[in-house]
Amino acid sequence: TTALIWFRRDLRLADNPALMAALDSAERIVPVYIHAPEEEGGWAPGGASRWWLHHGLARLGQDLAELGAPLVIRTGPSLETLQDLIRETGASHVHWNRLYEPDIIHRDTRIKQALQAQGVRARSFNGALLLEPWAVQNRSGDPYRVFTPYWKACQAQGALEVSLQPRPGRLMSASEDCRGEALESLGLLPTISWDAGLAEAWTPGEEGAHTALEGFLDHALADYGEDRNLPDRVGTSRLSPHLHFGEISPRQVVHACQRAVAQGRHRGADASVKAFLGEVGWREFGHHLLFHFPHTPLNPLDTRFEDFPWPPRDDDALQAWQQGRTGLPIVDAGMRELWTTGWMHNRVRMITASLLTKNLLIHWREGARWFWDTLVDADLASNTLGWQWTAGCGADAAPYFRVFNPVLQGERFDPKGDYVRRWVPELKNLPDKYLHKPWQAPESVLRGAGVRPGRDYPRPIVDLAVSRREALAAWETLRQSA
Ligand code: FAD
Repeated sequence: TTALIWFRRDLRLADNPALMAALDSAERIVPVYIHAPEEEGGWAPGGASRWWLHHGLARLGQDLAELGAPLVIRTGPSLETLQDLIRETGASHVHWNRLYEPDIIHRDTRIKQALQAQGVRARSFNGALLLEPWAVQNRSGDPYRVFTPYWKACQAQGALEVSLQPRPGRLMSASEDCRGEALESLGLLPTISWDAGLAEAWTPGEEGAHTALEGFLDHALADYGEDRNLPDRVGTSRLSPHLHFGEISPRQVVHACQRAVAQGRHRGADASVKAFLGEVGWREFGHHLLFHFPHTPLNPLDTRFEDFPWPPRDDDALQAWQQGRTGLPIVDAGMRELWTTGWMHNRVRMITASLLTKNLLIHWREGARWFWDTLVDADLASNTLGWQWTAGCGADAAPYFRVFNPVLQGERFDPKGDYVRRWVPELKNLPDKYLHKPWQAPESVLRGAGVRPGRDYPRPIVDLAVSRREALAAWETLRQSA
């Protein structure tokens, strides 16, 4: 018997339930990847994600080939391609790990039904989450909308009691029976090479994921409670793209973290461990919300915000924000970090998103789209959660009236200015006192630092105090009309 194992965003061999089930159910396997971005309902991977996907697939292909089962790459549509492969290899089973984006759920359900109708055993597994989104409910049987009780319920249901599936050894393959396409032919890499910064920052693939995890457990877990808010340090795990592409599973992350604690690598800092596992919990929460509220990538969860009076889009302001030229140093540092490395520190994601939605009054969807295209970890569940949280219109929202002040945030979380100096080098000679608010620096200080406002570095494109008042007034109008 032969089983197809349909790889999607589970680009790993260890702790891969669909792969293990395929090996249990058949003598020979055919690992398959099907490129079908048009099936992702308007959320096909953006530029940075495509770069990651190319390299992640290359690694998976090498790892599979070493075990004796080369990856077969094909272009969609997915159902017809699976049916072709079944015909070519005589496969009786098709296995995959589930994804949770609304359009993908819809597609996969259709595929499962069609394959089962033709007598093929099509089965899906949970390889991406600690608990299925539908497995957690509040007392009234409804989905949760607030994180803390949600995460408590998850833990009560054993979310952190994980067991792992082993990495398989030698694989018996039937891949030689079918023709594949070259990875390069998928055209995932950029045609103009803007990707040098990505290549410098990341090592996509299963091995890269475990190296990142172990490095984090050795060097940053103990101080995570404090350092996770400081963008000038490597205080977080940077596992998000690896988790998004399934190069590591959340179960493996939890398991490794618990092992590190047993070995004392957290140096007794239980609060840091709790905070880190809580962030893995936020990832679960994002999937829970997306599953139960599938309209949220485009519409606010909090329906009061459906009629928010967004002014006509200011394209110049949007472009200044995208290019890191707002004149607000910590915002510009974040947007440039994003453009260069495909990643931005969580604290700075909140600051930049707050500026866009609450000071520039640009719709959160514009920001979410930009992040979608530029983040290597772009993830519909986490991105939707993050944008709606910051805009104040989602679950567990920061109240709308909480507007992040980029000057105070910069002074608090980048006190020595290392982060801003790294990404906004034209300000590097400004004294710390003015680094986060160069417009307040006296003429002589600016001259001494070689900064000509409006020439070397922009003047702020928005008045923080006035725009904050306007945003709150818009919210007040909405509240009164509700
Ligand atoms: P760590 O602090 O090491 O956390 C470990 C893991 O927990 C992360 O890898 C991630 O999978 C998960 N996690 C951490 N924080 C969050 C969070 N707030 N929400 C959900 N999961 C979390 N994360 C994405 O993975 N993809 C996105 O597209 C995305 N878009 C965001 C947009 C905005 C506006 C905001 C405010 C946040 C967004 N986040 C997104 C969440 C968060 O910023 C990143 O997950 C985090 O910065 C990744 O860095 P890390 O791996 O070092 O995190």
